[in-house]
Amino acid sequence: MTQAERLARREQLRVDIGKVELELEQMRAEESRLLEGCEHLYADGRGAATGGRVKICSICGRLLKARDEKLWG
Ligand SMILES: [Zn+2]
Repeated sequence: MTQAERLARREQLRVDIGKVELELEQMRAEESRLLEGCEHLYADGRGAATGGRVKICSICGRLLKARDEKLWG
């Protein structure tokens, strides 16, 4: 392998690494989104989350972020 070939190969690897890193980042973002919520409902159809600013599902105990929380008024 010549030096030029090594450099070309390195460039190719860098491109591939960049792609995989982006994919990894997207998968991690999806993973954390999956863990953010739950869809438990009481028998009457109300969401099972209880609490104020920080909600906790009373069925699975998961900590839920308020989705529609408004920062300003
Ligand atoms: Zn739940």
